[in-house]
Amino acid sequence: MNDRENAALVLFSGGQDSATCLAWALERFERVETVGFDYGQRHGVELTVREDFLAALKHSFAPWAAKLGADHRLDARVLKALGATAMTESVAIAMDTNGLPNTFVPGRNLLFFTLAGALAARRGIRHLIGGMCETDFSGYPDCRDDTLKAQQVTLSLGLGERVAIHTPLMWRDKAQTFALAQALGGQALLDLVLEHTHTCYLGERSERHDWGYGCGSCPACLLRAAGWARFVENGA
Ligand code: ZN
Repeated sequence: MNDRENAALVLFSGGQDSATCLAWALERFERVETVGFDYGQRHGVELTVREDFLAALKHSFAPWAAKLGADHRLDARVLKALGATAMTESVAIAMDTNGLPNTFVPGRNLLFFTLAGALAARRGIRHLIGGMCETDFSGYPDCRDDTLKAQQVTLSLGLGERVAIHTPLMWRDKAQTFALAQALGGQALLDLVLEHTHTCYLGERSERHDWGYGCGSCPACLLRAAGWARFVENGA
């Protein structure tokens, strides 16, 4: 296999899901790079913890550190210029009239994968990895399996070379995502996920729960806490 075939680019936000996907990619590919997007998030905390997670991962997992290549940061703040959402402005999290939560940033994952595909083409990388999931999902249409399969086809055609989009968490719930981290890197990886990833919509990191940091009451914290409880219940 050529180098492109063995190389992956992980869309790594600093959250639990993409951190687990990063470990998944490091188990499977010879060369793994990461990309994070600044889209004017309400809280810069995700972008800070992602660097801590990468450093801790390299420190604790030498075989993975040897495969881990460049970490890219791309500016996607044009998304914020398009309009306010609860992810980019201090507005209360609520349901919109279209039935979607106002944490939905229209076009976000479509843009992220387009940028990641373009970056991967420059870097000689075939595989794109994302933590999107339909199982626990909040109804975001750009996290759907069909959306991402269609985008895989679009990118492959538009870039003129076959691109593969992998979504290892697509059919896993949060408890299974914790279990996957444990299967990939044991207690050491689980500890890194708990300590160094961030999913709270409110950017709260002052309180450490058994499931990690967060406000404990936003939809992302509730999902993570419930997933952890089920994971422990299942005999972690
Ligand atoms: Zn929260």
